[in-house]
Amino acid sequence: MTRATRMCPIYKFTRQEAAAPKAKANILRALINGALDDAALYAQTFQTVIDQCVGCGSCRLECPSNVDIPKLALEARARYVRRFGPSRHSRIVTAVEPLGRYGGRFSAMLAPLMKPGLVRQAGEVFTGISRRRPLVTMARQSLFRTVAPVAGTGRKRVLYFSGCYAGYVRPAIGRALVKMLTQRGYTVHTPAQHCCGLPLLTKGMVAAAREKVRRNLGQWRRLLEQVDHIVVTCSSCGLASWRIGPVCWTRPPCGR
Ligand code: SF4
Repeated sequence: MTRATRMCPIYKFTRQEAAAPKAKANILRALINGALDDAALYAQTFQTVIDQCVGCGSCRLECPSNVDIPKLALEARARYVRRFGPSRHSRIVTAVEPLGRYGGRFSAMLAPLMKPGLVRQAGEVFTGISRRRPLVTMARQSLFRTVAPVAGTGRKRVLYFSGCYAGYVRPAIGRALVKMLTQRGYTVHTPAQHCCGLPLLTKGMVAAAREKVRRNLGQWRRLLEQVDHIVVTCSSCGLASWRIGPVCWTRPPCGR
């Protein structure tokens, strides 16, 4: 057993050969090279191999040949989506932004109706989301309705990119950040914003992910030139935007 195999959390849990990084690498190469041409076979392979990669990157750190399995898995997912379109499950789990934007008011009301076992069971069949998974409810009011687009009067200016979690699920996190920064003398800009694109990226919906980042950068263009820092409360959202984006948005610029 290689060290990389020992490091894979999915392999450690399932102990199935198909979940080992080496097996994933071989199958992913076959998928990317076009060896599988049929949607059903593709879907089956995804279920048994690619969906058993959570993209943690442990194997990449350990691999002596530097094989980047998370990247191969992403490429295979992207190919699948380009050829066959996203699955219903992928469409549902990547819809946090519209759900938060338009469904916040109804989310808490609907939550009790979603609890009975039969409803959860039907939901699992329809959405592919496990009935055992705790329900996530959206906040009644999003962060963007409860903080001013510009708060504070300090000389130092920051752009706050909240991401969907602080934006729609736990806006108290964003409010606390704005309060803390304004009390420390910053002017905090919380502009209109879209999802960082990471949920879309993890489901292989690369073009849609890029579009989210492009729209964010497009609407912040002037602001980005004026602020001293960009602040995030979700490190994944910040990192995703930086990595997916067509241009570098960090200060100082990374030269991309
Ligand atoms: S990136 Fe995927 S294959 Fe590699 S260790 Fe993590 S889960 Fe396993």
